[in-house]
Amino acid sequence: MNNCSTIQPQANVSSCELEQMKSKIRMFQQAEELAGIGSWEYMPATDELTWSDGMYTMLNVPKCQRFDLEACTANFVASDQQGDFLQKIKENAKNGDKEFTFHYELEIDGDFKWFELKGKPTKNKKGEIVSILGTLQDRTEALYNSKELKRLKAAIAQVKQKNRQLEEFTYIASHDLQEPINIIQNMAGNILKMMESPDMRTQKSIQYLLGASEHMKRQVRSLMDYAKIGKDSKLTTIDCQQIVNDVLSKLQQETKTANANISIVQLPIIKGYPKEISLLFQNLISNALKFRKPNKIPQIKISAKTSKKYHTFQVTDNGIGIEEKYFKKIFKIFQRLNSEKKESTGIGLAHCRKIVELHQGKIWLESELGKGSTFFFTIKKM
Ligand code: ADP
Repeated sequence: MNNCSTIQPQANVSSCELEQMKSKIRMFQQAEELAGIGSWEYMPATDELTWSDGMYTMLNVPKCQRFDLEACTANFVASDQQGDFLQKIKENAKNGDKEFTFHYELEIDGDFKWFELKGKPTKNKKGEIVSILGTLQDRTEALYNSKELKRLKAAIAQVKQKNRQLEEFTYIASHDLQEPINIIQNMAGNILKMMESPDMRTQKSIQYLLGASEHMKRQVRSLMDYAKIGKDSKLTTIDCQQIVNDVLSKLQQETKTANANISIVQLPIIKGYPKEISLLFQNLISNALKFRKPNKIPQIKISAKTSKKYHTFQVTDNGIGIEEKYFKKIFKIFQRLNSEKKESTGIGLAHCRKIVELHQGKIWLESELGKGSTFFFTIKKM
């Protein structure tokens, strides 16, 4: 990307013409400042992006910085709108013939701004598009002047704050619960050791107590993990094929015990939160292994399709299946249909739902009792 406000003297430009050009640039800069806009030009053939001084000022970027279209989008368009933005610019660079507008929100130094970007393809004599010329305007104030939006903004801020408080509460409560569970476990173990020859009933009761507190410990730990989802994570490019291979290495023991056949069909590269995406696949694959049918070799298939806005993944198994009446219930925290499984906490699918929602997607399933299940989830292209 070039900064278009500097002019290099050319051999065939007279000093008078140069002065005129400089004065026009000064005028252009003052006009931009007065109108509160920035100007830009995109050349599709070279992927070059040129910004006026107004753009640098508005976006609070040092004038020495350069970006191509992709980098500019990644840095200056809200992540959930990046796909639409790139598509709009690229479509117009190919076939556009009239002015277009794009509105988007962006956080700059902790403040949310509402921008209006306008662009228009320019053509050469042959009618071919050579560039897109455009402007960017900060419309935050105009938007926030509307009363209804002010009210909405306050309501959203309140919901966000409540959500943060709730997550903090979940984290602290589950963290503090760990200690009393450890005491119960230690004490129960000690009692058992201290009794010289406990009768069967006492032994069984204490074993039951130990088992229950171990289960509670797992639940508390997974509740803490639930509260942590999306915290301290950075949006990056993820190779899902690689992520699933890593997950399968982690689940090697379980796969071997189940003697499972697992096939992966071409998974895409996406933008997302790597730790969370890995946990998502891990939960779905380990469920497919865990809820296999006895005496049947588990067949698990992981595949994906990519459309204009979403990547849609599916994890299919030939396991025990789920009745339709439980399709919603199983995504709620601590809901288990097969409570006899010791390692079950009933929070895995709630984790999955939170992770998918973090990626602005949805999760659902198709299943038939006794025949197997397919879990689908979407990840928004960013
Ligand atoms: P967990 O696996 O720890 O029990 P989940 O939240 O992952 O918790 O799953 C909730 C319940 O949904 C499970 O207890 C199980 O009854 C059911 N379930 C999940 N995945 C499958 C599957 N692939 N096949 C059959 N049942 C499943």
